[in-house]
Amino acid sequence: MIVVMKADATAEQVEHAAAHITSLGLSPQVIRGAHQTVIAAIGEERPGLIETLEAGAGVEKVLPIMAPYKRASSELKSERTVVRARGLEVGGTKIAVIAGPCSVENEAQIVAIARKLKERGATGLRGGAFKPRTSPYSFQGHKEEGLKMLAAARDETGLAIVTEVMAPEHVPMVAEYADVLQIGARNMQNYQLLQAVGDSGKPALLKRGMSATIDEFLLAAEYILDRGNPNVMLCERGVRTFEEHTRFTLPLATVPYLHEKSHLPVVVDPSHGTGKARLVPPMCKASVAAGADALIIEVHEDPEHAMSDGSQTITPAVFAQVMQQCRRVAEAVDRTM
Ligand code: PEP
Ligand code: MN
Repeated sequence: MIVVMKADATAEQVEHAAAHITSLGLSPQVIRGAHQTVIAAIGEERPGLIETLEAGAGVEKVLPIMAPYKRASSELKSERTVVRARGLEVGGTKIAVIAGPCSVENEAQIVAIARKLKERGATGLRGGAFKPRTSPYSFQGHKEEGLKMLAAARDETGLAIVTEVMAPEHVPMVAEYADVLQIGARNMQNYQLLQAVGDSGKPALLKRGMSATIDEFLLAAEYILDRGNPNVMLCERGVRTFEEHTRFTLPLATVPYLHEKSHLPVVVDPSHGTGKARLVPPMCKASVAAGADALIIEVHEDPEHAMSDGSQTITPAVFAQVMQQCRRVAEAVDRTM
């Protein structure tokens, strides 16, 4: 890291900072400029070092060189991670599609939609059994019964099941039925949940918190990776801004930016990212053009009567069109779908 001394730092302060760096096991190289002195501190950048060094007299600021997320970073692993769960493969040249209703409503519904989605090219089936709802009075999901319904849909179709787990103590139960554990936006910084999902060894789909920075997002992924679970997908699902016309603001520059910073595959969720069904098809195409490794899309036979998120949910007919159009975009960016 680089320790930047204040313009009026005294020679004693520079000497003290260099000695402090040495005492921390790093090697200081003092670089004296015409107006300011900086000290390159060479060695392992451990958590806490910045705060310790910034507390020193005469120190202006400390700049890290390495990313704080070691395992998620492309600095130490350049080979791209491919996450696999049954026929779902995310991170290769083929763009994957995970689709399904916001909530699992009943077995007939989830089995029927799963069949249609599979026919149209989805390899993952999403559906919430545990629903994180803003209001405690909204439908909270069928919980374990919902997981059983998802398992029935997998038995019928072979699709990989992607479903949210909301509490660390539920991880073993959800992992028994699911192929991929989704960590929702509202839980991105639930560190005990992240660790429990890491310990489960199941592939994880980590959604970006609605107010999380990219560093916070990657550090959340780091919690899962650090437990020895390498199968993490990063999901951009939109962030909160001043804009009220869309439910969230979907920043697609995140996709190439995450690809630059990390080897983990990137999934885009245009359903939650926009909150409006009519905006989902164009944003699916844009996500593919931006380099998304997978899309996660809310699809319901009858969005008007969906138990949650109907306004952002597309029908199987629209889903079929989305697939067709996205395949053409994928071809234009040297991918398949
Ligand atoms: C969902 O996928 O239905 C969901 C609740 O998503 P998010 O956590 O992104 O709001
Ligand atoms: Mn939803």
